[in-house]
This record gives sequence, C-alpha cells and structure tokens, in this order.
Amino acid sequence: MADKRLLNHLNISHLPGLGDALEKKFNSLAIYTVGDLLLHLPMRYEDRSSSSTIATLSIGEHTTIQGQIIKSEVIIAKKRMLICTVKDETGIINLRFMNFYPGQKQNMAVGRWLKAYGEVKQGKVYLEMIHPQIQIRDNEHALDDIETERYTPIYPATYGLTQTMLRKFIHLALLLLMRNPTPELIPSKFLTGFPSIEQALQIIHEPPLDINIAGLEDGSHPAKKRLIFEELLAYHLSMQMTKSHNQNQHAMPLKVTNQYITPFLHSLPFSPTNAQNRVVSEIYRDMAKNVPMMRLVQGDVGSGKTLVAALAALNALENNQQVVLMAPTEILVEQHYLNFCRWFEPLGLTVSLLSGKLTAKNKRECYASLESGQTDILIGTHAVFVEQVKFANLGFVIIDEQHRFGVAQRLSLWQKGGKDNIYPHQLIMTATPIPRTLAMTVYADLDVSTIDELPPGRTPITTVVLSNTRRNDVIERIKQACLEGKQAYWVCTLVEESEVLEAQAAEVVFAELQELLPGITVGLIHGKMKPIQKQEVMQAFKQGNIQLLIATTVIEVGVDVPNASLMVIENAERLGLSQLHQLRGRVGRGSEASHCVLMYQTPLSRVTKERLNVMRDSNDGFVIAQKDLEIRGGGEILGTRQVGIADFRVVDLIRDQHMINTIQSVSAYLLTHDFTAAVTIVDSWLPDRSKYINA
Ligand code: ADP
Ligand code: MG
Repeated sequence: MADKRLLNHLNISHLPGLGDALEKKFNSLAIYTVGDLLLHLPMRYEDRSSSSTIATLSIGEHTTIQGQIIKSEVIIAKKRMLICTVKDETGIINLRFMNFYPGQKQNMAVGRWLKAYGEVKQGKVYLEMIHPQIQIRDNEHALDDIETERYTPIYPATYGLTQTMLRKFIHLALLLLMRNPTPELIPSKFLTGFPSIEQALQIIHEPPLDINIAGLEDGSHPAKKRLIFEELLAYHLSMQMTKSHNQNQHAMPLKVTNQYITPFLHSLPFSPTNAQNRVVSEIYRDMAKNVPMMRLVQGDVGSGKTLVAALAALNALENNQQVVLMAPTEILVEQHYLNFCRWFEPLGLTVSLLSGKLTAKNKRECYASLESGQTDILIGTHAVFVEQVKFANLGFVIIDEQHRFGVAQRLSLWQKGGKDNIYPHQLIMTATPIPRTLAMTVYADLDVSTIDELPPGRTPITTVVLSNTRRNDVIERIKQACLEGKQAYWVCTLVEESEVLEAQAAEVVFAELQELLPGITVGLIHGKMKPIQKQEVMQAFKQGNIQLLIATTVIEVGVDVPNASLMVIENAERLGLSQLHQLRGRVGRGSEASHCVLMYQTPLSRVTKERLNVMRDSNDGFVIAQKDLEIRGGGEILGTRQVGIADFRVVDLIRDQHMINTIQSVSAYLLTHDFTAAVTIVDSWLPDRSKYINA
C-alpha cells in the first residue's frame, strides 16, 4: 500500500479559510487534496517587485502602480462596469473591471490605497488598466507590507478563483508541507544536484528574486528538474506496474477458426499487405493466450490499420465474443461504422453504432442489444464509456487513434469487460509516429507492432511549399483539377486553439472560394457544426457531390475519401509537422497522383521554412518525426501535450528525453528493492493511475 506523501491524502478543506464554496471551485480545477494543490504549478512568472510612477507609464507595458483611490463608481455603458480612479504624486489612472463582485465597490472605497498590476492601456481621458491584479490597504504605509520579494507565479485559474486566492492557499499548503516533510524515496545516488521535493516545490511556487527565472520556466533549473524527474519516474513506474498487473490477469484464449475470416478475405477487392499479415499474426498469437493482450499497432497514415482491426475483431467474433471499437470523433466513428457494416453484415454479424448524437430511444435500444448479446460489434465515440453500456460478453477492445484518449479512460473501458476476473484483449491503433526512445516511455505498458508498408498502387503525394502571394495561382489550379473531375480539400488553420475562431475563418474562405469558383460545388465542414450536418457534408464529399471541401483541422484524423487527390493547407507554418503529416494523409489514398500545397504566410523564419521543406522531401511519418526533433533540438518548447502523446504537468518528453535512461534504472531499482516507495511515488503524481494498479 502507498504511504502518504506530499499531503496527497489530506483534503483541501483542511486548509484554514477554505470553505465549501471555495472547495467546489478548486475541485473544478481537479484539485481535491493539498497534494493536488501543491502540484498545481505556475504557467509563468511575473516580476512585480518594482512599481512605476503613473507619469512614466507607457502603453502596453506590464507593471505595478500604487496610489490612493480618489473615485470609485459603477457606470453602465454597454455593460455594467466598475471604474476606480487612482492617483499618485505624478498622475492619474483608471482601473476598469467588467466583472466584479458585490461589495467590490465598497472595498475600493475612496481614500484607501492600493497596488495594481496589469497592462497599461490608453483610455479616453486617462491611462487605464483593465482587470488588474489588486491589493488594497487602508493607508499608504500598509502597502509596504505587501510581499514583493519574490517573482509572482501565475497559475491556471478558473472563474471565481483568483490568482491571489490560489497564491494564498498554495502558500498555506507549502507551510504545511514544510512541517511534514517526507523521507526521501529515491536513492541519493540518482539525485545528485537536485534539491529535495519540498525545497523544489517551495522554489517553484515562490521563487526568490535572485533566482534564474528563465531556468525555472524552461526546465533547466534543478528545482524544476527535480519535479520533471519525479513525474517521469512516476509515469514510467505506473506503466511498468500496469504491465505486470495486466500479466497477472486472465483472458479468454481466442483461437482462429476461419469461420468468418476466410469468407471475409475472399470478399475483399485486395489482399492484405505483408506488413498487415505479419501484424495480424502477431495479434492472433497474443489473443490465443490466457493473459489479456495489450498491443499497440503503429502505422503511418494510410497503412491500412482498419483492415488489421477488422481481422483481429473477426477472431474474437469467431469465438462468440463481443467487440467494441472506439474512435475519437463522430466523423471517424461514422466512417468505421459504414465500413464494418459493409464488411461484416454479409457474414451475418450485427454491427451497432453508439455516439452522443443518437436519440435517447436509440441509445436505449443500443444498450439493450449490447446487454442481451445481440450486438456483435459496437462502434462508438466516448459515449461507450457511459455507465449504461454493459456488455454480455466483451472479449476484445479496439481503440483507434489512441492519443486522443487518456490512459485512465482506456483502462476503465477495459475493466468494463472484466467479469469473474477474465479481462478482454486490447488493441490500440495509432498513427502518431514517435521516435523509439520516446516510445519506450510512452508505450512502456504495451507490446508494439508496426505496419511498415503502404498498400500497393499508391502514387506518392507530391508536396510543394508556396508563399501566400501565390494564392491566386493555387485557386486556379484547384479549378483545373475540379474541372477534370478530381476532388480537393482546402484546410484553414489558426494559431489559437479555438473551434469558434477556426470555424469563422473557414466560413470566410468558403464564401470567398464559392464566389471565385462558379460552377464548382464547394462544401464546408468545421467543428462547430452539428454532427448530423458534418455527416451529411462528408457523405456528399464521399459521393462526389462536393468537389472542393473547405475544412478546419477536424478532418485531421482518419477520414478516408480515396478520390480526393489535392489538398491545400493554408498557413501551414502554424501547424506541427506531425499534424501536417496527418492532414496530408487524407490525400494519396487512391490511384490518382496526389498533390499537397503547403501555403505559408510571409515572412517565414529559416527554421520554419526548413520544417516545411521536410514535409516536401518526405512522405514517411517516422522520418518526419525524427527530422522535426533534429531541427527543433531540445530548445524549443513544444510539449508532448500539444503533440497529444501524454498529459504531463512538467515533463516535456522531447525536451527531457535525456533523462529516460536514468529513469529506467531508478524504476527498475525501486520495483525490485522498494516497491512501497514506487507505489507511493506513482500515487503522489498519478492518483488516477494507482487506482488501476492496485485494483
Ligand atoms: P489508416 O492506417 O490511416 O487507418 P485505412 O485503414 O483508413 O488507413 O486505410 C486506407 C485505405 O487503404 C483504405 O481505403 C483501405 O481500404 C485501403 N487499404 C487497406 N489495406 C489495403 C490493402 N492491403 N490493399 C489495398 N488497399 C488497402
Ligand atoms: Mg485510421
């Protein structure tokens, strides 16, 4: 059993002054225990130690001012707002609050003194700060007591939970931690140069002004490294434990009878590639065992993972086991559903669909059909996680495009299948190519098969990199292609991850191209559309009724329309290479020679140009991933979170991969010599995970 560590068994309500209402707010940030609070880490830091006089402020600057309140009033312009006017010996500034609490006006009473930190803006009469961070005192003298000896951490926050409150309670948590230090769990020989975990947390939350703050932000400071080391270790340990836990479970051995497999293979217009055959036989070998398979199939976009999944599923079906196939988006689920109906229904098998968009009645029917065992294979989105989903005899779980699902979700589905201690076999399919060192960590709990060959008859995609000054030529080229009966995608991208903005951008381009390309049917698809609308658009595109599809990155994953042979990606420089590769994989699926135009906004930095050229020069996902790493080196901070591989608090797998070897040694050491310490470390970083390990 795990020991207590980092106060992760102490509910936050134990902190003085933290009542029920606040507790709920903290819970909404997934903070339940004092330990969670301690691991709620700053996103960045600000230096608020020196304050400026109002007369010397310049617009756009982030700074602190201090002065006396000379007016405080609520005005009604477009919205109600609170305006507080502050004066120091050099000038006057307005503080403007669009959201404010009842009582805030009284708090900002005329005559009181305050410090405000924020961005300086030009107002109508005076300079302004909008929603500055403020601290109010009754007299000028009391302002001096406000702590400015440290950098100010900025945390992920939520409505009603301000930075000031977060800092206050984290400070209390740190005090508590210092009074309850934990014995060191990691042997000292692995920890040279690192502070203790308590010291590290203290530094990270309350860095003194003389610290190398950049090092704290980029991960090179020993305090940050200590946390990275622990998180990576916890992750690695949890993977090892999941693996051995899994190997101690039982599964139904599933032996191929060929009842369905043979007629299915005969019905296909093509034969599986050698790589597909090899991977399928690896899967069959696992499924024949009485321990649950946990296998990952890695294969570049277009390598034919769906067929592998189908062949694996048929083995389970031949053994009268139910199968569930889960995919991350409605579009993908719909597409799989159509494929599997076409493939499996002629064999007399029942394929069911479950997604959030079904009516309540259809959902109930689906649940009943699953529970009675009538459904043979269920295809669904996250909707398959809900409690009502109960299987009669689930023997096999398939997860497509794994990185979109969390590991905890995956394990919860797997447990649904568990009955009398018999667990389903599991297959995970991903197209995210990641280099080997990283794979050893991220997929440490899985056996890996790789489809390293594309189906024959594909003509490689020709990629060109063009500046947006050539946009008109590109549009002309699309016109020609469409007139020749080809189909094309036009992908709109945005810097910010906002579905709303992205949808707007796509709508603008849609209107523009509709006007510029009379006689060509232009369609539009984006993430803000209703599932049914998306489905209709995809269907029309598939059937050739739409010639040019304007899309946001919603089409990134798994969509298969073989006749589409041209893709334009606008502002390609905004996307990561692996995302570009996924997108581009939507074309080049038929026998027609395919083209991809990566259009960039000028000017372009040398590195970015070099990255786009990698796309031009290679069609191989693994080569691209490797090159991407080389170009970016360890310096640039592009977290694996963005790549979608894993969710870490401080680890950036790419930046921190040099630690992986040491982590493996520590992990092996702890698992053999100090299992309790190992569980305790996992428990302090990944409480969700430890639930499954101890189960
Ligand atoms: P991905 O690995 O990206 O999921 P898909 O499973 O969607 O790839 O397959 C891409 C396309 O290749 C589909 O149209 C599929 O029918 C086709 N395909 C798969 N395997 C073969 C094969 N052995 N020979 C020819 N075409 C194949
Ligand atoms: Mg796929």
